[in-house]
Amino acid sequence: MNHNPFRKLPSVERLLGDQRVAALAARHGHGPVVGLARAVLDEYRAAIEATGGSPERPPAEAVVERAASLEPSLRPVVNATGVIIHTNLGRAPLSDDALAAMQRAGAGYSNLEYDLASGERGSRFTHLESVLCRVTGAEAGLAVNNNASALLLALSALCAGREVVISRAQLVEIGGGFRIPDVMRQSGATLVEVGTTNRTYLRDYAEAITERTAALLRVHASNFRVVGFTEEAPLAGLAALARERGLLLLDDLGSGALLDPRRYGLGAEPLVADSIGAGLDVARFSGDKLLGGPQAGIAVGRAEPIAALRRHPLARAVRMDKGSIAGLAATLAAYERGDAERTVPVWRMIAAAPAALRRRAARWTRAATAAGAAASTVSARSTVGGGSLPGEELPTFACAVRPASGSAAALAARLRTGQPPVVARSEHDRGLLDPRTVDERDDRAVAGALAAALAPAVTAGS
Ligand SMILES: *Cc1c(COP(=O)(O)O)cnc(C)c1O
Repeated sequence: MNHNPFRKLPSVERLLGDQRVAALAARHGHGPVVGLARAVLDEYRAAIEATGGSPERPPAEAVVERAASLEPSLRPVVNATGVIIHTNLGRAPLSDDALAAMQRAGAGYSNLEYDLASGERGSRFTHLESVLCRVTGAEAGLAVNNNASALLLALSALCAGREVVISRAQLVEIGGGFRIPDVMRQSGATLVEVGTTNRTYLRDYAEAITERTAALLRVHASNFRVVGFTEEAPLAGLAALARERGLLLLDDLGSGALLDPRRYGLGAEPLVADSIGAGLDVARFSGDKLLGGPQAGIAVGRAEPIAALRRHPLARAVRMDKGSIAGLAATLAAYERGDAERTVPVWRMIAAAPAALRRRAARWTRAATAAGAAASTVSARSTVGGGSLPGEELPTFACAVRPASGSAAALAARLRTGQPPVVARSEHDRGLLDPRTVDERDDRAVAGALAAALAPAVTAGS
């Protein structure tokens, strides 16, 4: 061999002249693509040095493959799992109103921390307070970054250096390693456990109260259910006990339902209004679970403890950004107007009519059948998810697909890695796609994704 393999490597300029690479540069900018081209050429040179020969694959192809790393990592995904508040898929999709409000808040300046009447500095915490009070019936309200930070803030501001009494049945792990006892330790409050895993009586709380006690804490065991021989102290009883002994009663509702899911044949979820009605001091819940808004942790209750939360230095560290404040305000407005079931996607999905779901699933079934798969429209079950209403299901219709060749898991993988990515459920040897959690505007894209995902399997089998 007398030729020099280094000579066969193109220059960076030549590589950028390749049509596919030029298209990437137009899309992602010159700089990042030059970076990729240099990195690929360096690797090819190193490979030649090591082996004496150049890699088979044209360098332009290697650049195209690597350009995937220039795409934004966070991408839209179609959720066909039927799990409405899917934590891994971003929890609640937002209403059109919320999105419009976030767009307006982000596009320009706002009175975020500015009092237009006086021309002086204002507080970002004022924007949500009155609407929170109107929709929950509370005296005062505050929203921060998420419910976990609202818990940390409440315990730090109200209970640091003192004791908090909680039932052993409520020392829960919410998910992602978030455990109530760990947060309590962070806040400087001391945990006092009472009762047993399955039974805790009001008198267990009463007997644990000392001069060091600051509060009684109730946590909704949102993501599991204890059934059978169980006992829980009623909220009204806890409220009376706290009042009598001069303690605070704090409530972690988890989801924070403003509407009653029993209207849709689901089980009971603690309602925010009921907690406020029971006269407790601070009730907390997430903004992006059953409420259906942006990520937030909402604390509502009596004016004095809420003001203490607002004044605590941690409030600054866990504050919300302006976009989320705008989106949450628009979401809360839907409850106030009374149209949340139509306009807030989480509730629209809960309320979806079975006949419409069947019709939409059938359309996907036709697309999958046309692509050569054994598909049918079947009765299935959707769930609310997000640690709300564990074990509760909504009857739905789904498109069940058995690929002509290859496994259901392989089909699910092709759907996930397609464009748009579609996340479906695999059950035994078939993939299940539930229209309940899919925006109707994406129905056609899902049919296309199904056809594309089934195509290679059909070719292989024929
Ligand atoms: C989900 C949940 C949390 C955590 O809420 P985030 O908003 O995710 O921080 C806390 N407590 C309970 C009971 C929950 O269900």
